[in-house]
Amino acid sequence: MSQRIFLSPPHMSGHELTLVEEAFAGNYIAPVGPMLTAFEKEWADYTGIAHCLALSSGTGAIHLALKEFGVGPGDEVVASTLTFIGSVSPVTFLGAKPVFIDADQKSWNLDPDLLAEFVAKRAAEGKLPKAVVVTDLYGQCADLDRILDICRPHGIKVVADAAEAAGASYRGRAAGKGADAAIFSFNGNKIITTSGGGMLASDDPKLIDRARYLSTQARQPFPHYEHTEIGFNYRMSNIVAAIGRGQLRVLDERVNRRREIFATYQNALGSIDGIDFMPEADYGRANRWLTVMLIDAERFGADPEQVRLALEAENIESRPVWKPMHLQPVFEGVTCVGGAVSEDLFRRGLCLPSGTALTGTDLERIIGLIKGCR
Ligand SMILES: *Cc1c(COP(=O)(O)O)cnc(C)c1O
Repeated sequence: MSQRIFLSPPHMSGHELTLVEEAFAGNYIAPVGPMLTAFEKEWADYTGIAHCLALSSGTGAIHLALKEFGVGPGDEVVASTLTFIGSVSPVTFLGAKPVFIDADQKSWNLDPDLLAEFVAKRAAEGKLPKAVVVTDLYGQCADLDRILDICRPHGIKVVADAAEAAGASYRGRAAGKGADAAIFSFNGNKIITTSGGGMLASDDPKLIDRARYLSTQARQPFPHYEHTEIGFNYRMSNIVAAIGRGQLRVLDERVNRRREIFATYQNALGSIDGIDFMPEADYGRANRWLTVMLIDAERFGADPEQVRLALEAENIESRPVWKPMHLQPVFEGVTCVGGAVSEDLFRRGLCLPSGTALTGTDLERIIGLIKGCR
């Protein structure tokens, strides 16, 4: 059988190995060093977010941001229900309670109208949520300005979970810019990868200073390491940062290629009865991290699982849309505002192979197989 086609495999540019060798030559095989500093500076330059902290994961970045925003036991933190668990698990690390909000039709992201209603209700009850974690789903930005307008008057902090959205833009700004904190992920399946890693970014230097301190075991500046609070071991390695610098150099190219892949699928399949694709909101430019197709089983003649299995039989990986958090057994009983939109997207959605190293021949083959399911 031909080599497996993965959903979103790593795609190195060639710059990475040169930079890793440079890091080895300097012997900074450690969670400190010049690659780390340079990666953070280059990420700040790229996103326009003034201060950046490279970490071992995107999940860790959300954890530190929420901790710094004072989230603790008993607090509520609002999040998109249609997201990956890493967006939400840090809420539980802090002993706080998630509240889920449904997606909207236009962007598949947290619905600002439902958020406004929920915040008004909690304001009337006199117990506001501490923070909102807003996912930029599949590389499309949520309507951040509207969400900030709802949250700022109440002092609710907004964390932009741009884990999937590196290279995307919103009203001419980079994904995450303008939120109280933004996080990015360089996990192996993301649009650019360092094997694993994350970035916390904010225009507030105090937030990043505190997060840096907490990410390196909260060591007070004494030769003997004095501790006045408990921290974490969340810092990125200097070697990993070298990979990140190499990947950042090609991020814009990767976005263009992902968008081209999306357009290829859409042009080939979009006019078939029962097939639709993820919309692009008019306020931004998505990075199209994954191409997501919606299948109406009755009109198309096959359901998403049948298409997935047909591809799998040819050693091609595809995957359902994220299962909404409010349907996850681990979050049984958690409040969800709405839910019908994300449930419908979960039922009809299929993420197609979207890696930037896919060839035209690969795409034709995948498209032919999908058509054959009709
Ligand atoms: C990948 C991802 C995360 C977690 O990032 P890690 O670096 O894997 O910890 C968080 N949120 C979303 C939406 C993601 O897709």
